[in-house]
Amino acid sequence: MAEQIRKRDEIDPRYKWNLADIYPSDEAWQADYDAWAAKIPEIAAMNGHVSEDPKKAIRTYFEVQEKISPIFEYAFLRKETDNADPTAQALKDKALRLAVQISAAGAYLEPELLAMDEAELTRLAKDPEMKDYDAYLRTLLLNKPHTLSKEQEQLIAMMGEVAEAPDAIFTALTEADMKLPPIRLADGTEQELTEGNYSTFIHSKDREVRRQAFTNLMTAYEKMGNTIAGTYNASVKKDQFMADSHHFASARQAAMAPLEIPEEVYDNLISVIHEYLPVLQDYLRLRKDLLKLDELHLYDLYVPMTDSFSMELPYEEAFDLVLKGLSPMGEDYLAKLREARDNRWIDVYPSIGKSSGAFSAGDLRSVHPYVLLNHNNNLDSAFTIAHELGHSMHSFYSNTRQPAPKSDYSLFVAEVASTCNEALMMRYLLHTMKEKEAQAYLLNHFLEQFRTTCFRQTMFAEFEKISHDMAQQGIPLTKASLSEAYLKLNQTYYGETCFIDPEIASEWMRIPHFYRAFYVYVYATGLCAAVSLSERIMTGGEAAVRDYREFLSAGCSVPPIEALKLAGIDMSRPEPVRRAMEVFRETVRAMREVVGK
Ligand SMILES: [Zn+2]
Repeated sequence: MAEQIRKRDEIDPRYKWNLADIYPSDEAWQADYDAWAAKIPEIAAMNGHVSEDPKKAIRTYFEVQEKISPIFEYAFLRKETDNADPTAQALKDKALRLAVQISAAGAYLEPELLAMDEAELTRLAKDPEMKDYDAYLRTLLLNKPHTLSKEQEQLIAMMGEVAEAPDAIFTALTEADMKLPPIRLADGTEQELTEGNYSTFIHSKDREVRRQAFTNLMTAYEKMGNTIAGTYNASVKKDQFMADSHHFASARQAAMAPLEIPEEVYDNLISVIHEYLPVLQDYLRLRKDLLKLDELHLYDLYVPMTDSFSMELPYEEAFDLVLKGLSPMGEDYLAKLREARDNRWIDVYPSIGKSSGAFSAGDLRSVHPYVLLNHNNNLDSAFTIAHELGHSMHSFYSNTRQPAPKSDYSLFVAEVASTCNEALMMRYLLHTMKEKEAQAYLLNHFLEQFRTTCFRQTMFAEFEKISHDMAQQGIPLTKASLSEAYLKLNQTYYGETCFIDPEIASEWMRIPHFYRAFYVYVYATGLCAAVSLSERIMTGGEAAVRDYREFLSAGCSVPPIEALKLAGIDMSRPEPVRRAMEVFRETVRAMREVVGK
């Protein structure tokens, strides 16, 4: 049974994180806050003088960033567990204001550095005294050819709000103005349908419920199609304008080059995923058989294929399971996990006023990472522990092995350590939980992770590539042209086995990620890298674990592709994606064996 939702003070302190590790009291926080707020004039004083002493300017900037991080994190975390507490809210507002003030006061640094001679910047990057800042200077140099004059950059910055308009309009339309038609149940009652509860309905065992959820949702978007196409068109044109004006060959290059990701990564992902579409079809055929359907529709893709499996798993047991599952990571890694549990880095249970979901906060170099959970006494919650602690350990190793300016890991690898832990857990559980129901549940979970993360996100990535290519070639982006492109993609990915419900043509209209172009591919590459690495760890023994530790410890000291090479995989090549897809193939085969199909 799920843990009853309690008041926060009814929960044993052992299961609440200890923010006193950051500040013993709100008063101590306030004292630090005052001290750093007083530093603002000092930072602002260097405005216009960076080239006179660039080393000092860079050091000051990073020192301030590091020192205000506890102020911000304490206030942020304090509010997460007590969203209704006005004191917590006030602390967070204050911290946010301080962060904004400091960032505004130091906003001159980058433009002034970029205005310096390339030769001088290169010298600075190679200066042994600036070793801690070499990664920062490396990416700065990379951006130099794409930086315009001060006046031009100012002009573009002044258009900032206009550039953000498509995203803002999309959010207002879909989150406030749009209403979805309700679902009518067999007993005559109606259920409200929202983007927020769509996921529950599309997973429903009742086929009529999921059919209505799908149809009602897609139809509502279709009716807004011209508006959303206009909004999306503006967003793509903005990407194109930003890329052109900053001398990038394409919007995709403009998104990937500053993160030091070669574009082959994107192209390899799409081509290898296409290579494995027959395996996806095989999975879908199995799904159709197990659901005993004459015809598999797109609204039948999410419902679990087997009877539900539930397992009562209190926190202590779930944590033990995580320790066992992650034992290939080595004793020191496990010791850190125990330390996280025993020393109250983790806030375990739901309580009134606490935020939902789960996350790891890893920016506190001077303290340790914190983890927020909402433990629900089941197996999914155990996977969440493994996932969030994966983030925490990545932060912990990078924070302790790198100086502050090189400790933040790249977006490209942000989900690798977390999903690698999940993949290791999956292997362990498949190895130990031999009952048929457990095996079917686990394999269903793994198959869906592949389908929704590798295949679906790659299809999204492909759509973004197509829409931006169309814009670059001067092809109008309209409701009709975008929906046609999206429908075709669905036919390619699912068409051989699935009936392609025509309503799916409008699905692109509901994806908020499309307003942050060329980002979703990271979900797919992240899972492929993680699965590939988990394979390597399981088969490569101590050497593989040592390599993996190097990756966890790298922060942003090297470009993300190089960081993953330390762990033994090269994401600029198709092999790691292929290796992950072979695991997918093997998982389909295992599922067939378990269910005897
Ligand atoms: Zn995550």
